[in-house]
Amino acid sequence: MNGIIDSCSRNTCPPEVLFLSIDVVFPSSVYHGTLDIYLDSFKERLLNKNYWKTGRDFGQGLYTTISIDQAKAWARSMQDKWNEGQPCVLEIAVQAERLTFQPHFRIFTGISSEWAKYIYQHRKVIPGEGDPCSSHAHIAIGPMADANTGNIVQDAVRLNKDSQWFLDKITRNHSNRRLDSLQLGNQIVFCDEALTPMLNLTGAYLYQGRRWRYNGNEETAQQL
Ligand SMILES: [Zn+2]
Repeated sequence: MNGIIDSCSRNTCPPEVLFLSIDVVFPSSVYHGTLDIYLDSFKERLLNKNYWKTGRDFGQGLYTTISIDQAKAWARSMQDKWNEGQPCVLEIAVQAERLTFQPHFRIFTGISSEWAKYIYQHRKVIPGEGDPCSSHAHIAIGPMADANTGNIVQDAVRLNKDSQWFLDKITRNHSNRRLDSLQLGNQIVFCDEALTPMLNLTGAYLYQGRRWRYNGNEETAQQL
């Protein structure tokens, strides 16, 4: 599938085949939570597959979100975890019209068993193992599973559970209460370096002195 819209009408298509035309409109900017020590590397090359880890929700890629707060929380949790650098949120402008090819999308507009299965399959991948898809999407978009997903995957594998069990677990909070779809985060994942022309690092929010400070790209370049 390459995203080309099929022109066959309702009358001529076999009833079991459903064709959906997609016209994806991106937000002007998306955000990526990281640490300031990696900022130079992102400025040099925003999409660098050498840094893309396996075992993540939607496969290997640059994980971004439409929510700056979610990106800030992610950056702060990274700093808590690694105890180095300062939290940093990249502001990335998105201009899909700069692409010269039609990307292959995987879009989950909400919670479904297909969504859970996709996450489960990709989360189970261990380093050195290939992607489970026959052809992984260039861009994957959808809800983010609960932050504790790593442990849930380990339990699921250990107990030989299926993706339905996994779906139930990743949509509950720490008190085992069912989460509303909007309580799950959002993620837009760029999974191919060929998408480079559509992304432009326009600035970064740096957490300094207990507050976030924005630096436009030129200013950031002078400072660091
Ligand atoms: Zn895949």
